[in-house]
Amino acid sequence: MKNYLKIAAAATLLAACQSNENELANKNSQKAETVMKTEDNFKYVAEQFADLRVLRYKVQDFDQLSLEQKELLYYLYEAALSGRDIYYDQNYKYNLVIRKTLEALLSTESHDSQSEDFKKLEIYAKRVWFSNGIHHHYNNDKFIPECSQEFFTHVLGHVDDSKLPLQAGQTKADFINFITPLIFDEKIAAKKVSLDSKQDLVKSSAVNFYEGVTQKEAMDFYAAQAKAANTNQNPMYGLNSKLTKENGKLVEKVWKVGGMYSASVEKIVYWLEKAVTVAENENQKAALQALIKFYQTGSLVDFDTYNIAWVKDTESAIDVVNGYIEVYDDPLGKKGSFESVVSVKDFEASKRIATIGENAQWFEDNSPILPQHKKQNVKGISAKVINAVIESGGSAPSTPIGINLPNNEWIRETHGSKSVNLGNIVEAYDQASGGSSVDEFYYNDEIKTRVKNYASLADKLHTDMHEVIGHASGQIEKGIGQPHETLKNYASALEEGRADLVALYYLLDPKLVDLGVMPSLDYGKSAYDEYITKGLIVQLSRIKLGKDIEEAHMRNRKMIAAWAFEKGAKDNVIEKKSENGKTFYVVNDYNKLRALFGELLREIQRIKSQGDYKAGHNLIENYGVKIDQALHKEVLERYAKLNIAPYAGFIQPKLVPVIENGKITNVNIEYPEDFKTQMLEYGKEYSLLPAYN
Ligand code: ZN
Repeated sequence: MKNYLKIAAAATLLAACQSNENELANKNSQKAETVMKTEDNFKYVAEQFADLRVLRYKVQDFDQLSLEQKELLYYLYEAALSGRDIYYDQNYKYNLVIRKTLEALLSTESHDSQSEDFKKLEIYAKRVWFSNGIHHHYNNDKFIPECSQEFFTHVLGHVDDSKLPLQAGQTKADFINFITPLIFDEKIAAKKVSLDSKQDLVKSSAVNFYEGVTQKEAMDFYAAQAKAANTNQNPMYGLNSKLTKENGKLVEKVWKVGGMYSASVEKIVYWLEKAVTVAENENQKAALQALIKFYQTGSLVDFDTYNIAWVKDTESAIDVVNGYIEVYDDPLGKKGSFESVVSVKDFEASKRIATIGENAQWFEDNSPILPQHKKQNVKGISAKVINAVIESGGSAPSTPIGINLPNNEWIRETHGSKSVNLGNIVEAYDQASGGSSVDEFYYNDEIKTRVKNYASLADKLHTDMHEVIGHASGQIEKGIGQPHETLKNYASALEEGRADLVALYYLLDPKLVDLGVMPSLDYGKSAYDEYITKGLIVQLSRIKLGKDIEEAHMRNRKMIAAWAFEKGAKDNVIEKKSENGKTFYVVNDYNKLRALFGELLREIQRIKSQGDYKAGHNLIENYGVKIDQALHKEVLERYAKLNIAPYAGFIQPKLVPVIENGKITNVNIEYPEDFKTQMLEYGKEYSLLPAYN
């Protein structure tokens, strides 16, 4: 599970009227050259286009690592990038065709290259790279180039046939007829992941996880697998395959060596095998070997074995997430998106998160949840701050700031989980943000000052607790299925809400001051100010006027803030104020708000523990989905004035081995400055899958 809090909630990162996207895109393309440097002279902000900002991050003290560690990082880096194509294809079956076409277009010099239309096409290509496909990485809607269709087909005419992903026997004219509507017709593959429960979720989603299969067929197929196994230690059925039909029968095409995506998976295995030779210790070696075996067999039991080994690897400085991990991209929550995060532990910053992890049992015992839903022994919560070295697939360019894995509930309950906070990513966000949106959206100077001074640490603590004692807490009652089975399409939003509420509840607990991780309760207050303002106001800037909230993390924040506002109304716990046409939500009573958070936490834990779909459905639908249209319009207008794109992603560092006599003698780290250059380079170096899979 992931925490994207910083991205979604940080007031300073949000802005821009999305209904005004065209106008904004133009404004931003003029601003693209803007360079923002900080005291250490590292350029954190690379560029801004459409509704996106591209940032950069640094890996502190890379040079101080041993040669073996650098070598290990390098192999894991190559393994990460080797899976990049998989994620494109998972997101939509024609994403690779489209990406390869765009890359060919942008690498071809022609008389059109300086035209306005070409710049628009380039922005479209950047958006495709940013989203790993033709659908917005966050709201899942298909986006369309702003250049004309005629211009697109015209420039495609200049590109050499050999550079284009033509199918056997296909003429260029046929190819142009085939690809143009895929890009320009809004109705084709309109939505990456549909969560509209009135429709067949599988058929209305563009993701390439099912083909020729209905939602009911898919659900019955996996329900039957779970039933046949009849154990409480089920693997996550369906995680590593595409479900399709052959001769009228359902078949799974497994993503493994010799199966679907074999060309990428073979390369991943190749690099992982090298990584094994320089593993830091036996546990890490065992985990890497288990991962290799999983990629070779495609067996989900092997994946569980790998995860158990991975959880045990807690001593290593270097860690890696590599596999089919998160299930957010599947409307049925079965299929894992490829991703990789390669990292080095930040030992100093890890002390804070470790303190929270060490006290996990205290937090569980003192939680407001019902006694029967508390874990008697909170197991194996390991927590650390890491510095990312490379991210790919579902974790790049847009990245989480916190990760808690593995996702399989029985492994979490029996063997524990690992939680991390991506320290250098958070640092880059902090460095890249300005204070302008705090000034715009918070009510008075007292609150503004508190948020500016304290919210940075409070955010870190929120992330730590969300991952370490949030997702890891609580237990499901006997005989109740996994949340994805019982709570279905609301499972993710409810789970993120549950983890947020654990963090919020404890952010105002003197225990954090006693533990020495938070200097005073003012930090907690700033977190409350932020959560309410972001949940009810700031995050609306990311939604198009007239649309509902769909993304799980956004739904949960809106749900929590709106629920607390309504339930606290009789005591005026949160007050809605309006001044000079501007709306503010102001917290009047922090302790009562804390009590409300505790009450909602108890209820959501009950919903999860008992699999109460109806109550979960009502919470999300009543509080998390709908937006007050007048307020929405106001927020979009206030944001547009700040001119900060609402979504951010990162250019990745580049690892360059120094090879002498066939041996690696050093690894250097470089920090590329240009997003397009990096994307074209990846397209060349890591184009491992065919355009059609
Ligand atoms: Zn989470």
